Amino acid sequence: MRIYLASGNAHKVEEFRQLASDTGFAVEVFSAREIGGMPPVQEDAGTFAGNARKKARALLPQVPPGAWVLADDSGLCVDALDGAPGVESAYYAGPLGDSRANLAKLVETMQAVPEARRGAHFTCVLCLVASDGREQVFEGICPGRLRREPRGGGGFGYDPLFVPDEEEKTFAELGEAVKNRLSHRARAWQRLAAWVRGN
Ligand code: IMP
Repeated sequence: MRIYLASGNAHKVEEFRQLASDTGFAVEVFSAREIGGMPPVQEDAGTFAGNARKKARALLPQVPPGAWVLADDSGLCVDALDGAPGVESAYYAGPLGDSRANLAKLVETMQAVPEARRGAHFTCVLCLVASDGREQVFEGICPGRLRREPRGGGGFGYDPLFVPDEEEKTFAELGEAVKNRLSHRARAWQRLAAWVRGN
């Protein structure tokens, strides 16, 4: 199975290659760069699934026959903020998409929120489209809670604030191997892998 990733982000190709090798099925993950690059997409659908579908559909015309397109969209949903920043996670602190500013804004916004109301979850939606247009959507959720102060040097985005259920450390402290087992992306990928195996 050949999958082209509908993203301009080289880090994501590596991450999905790692997930593919962890789940042990025969899939090759390629960058959109190898087929002319990722066309610009306005991520304004208002839902993770809608944004992922838009990205996948944008790359689809460039994909060779028999190959697949995979797009993802993800974010952090905070219970006490009615699910915000959600689909706006990348731009929480403004249109520049500054992840340090996003994290600082979340720390500040959550400052007065008591321990019992600090629940949050990461969501990832994957949209897999065959070259003939058939489409499947897979969702992965990683529940957890938010610390008061960031901790840990690994990961990216909101990782230093997020402690997944059953753990005491943040994603930024737990490291890549643990994150690749527990994360919203890993869970969505496991569902995708189960679907591919059943087809
Ligand atoms: P995207 O779907 O990769 O564009 O991610 C959207 C935004 O959600 C990122 O810019 C991060 O702010 C946040 N996000 C998504 N996944 C993670 C994660 O695994 N750790 C921390 N932040 C994340």
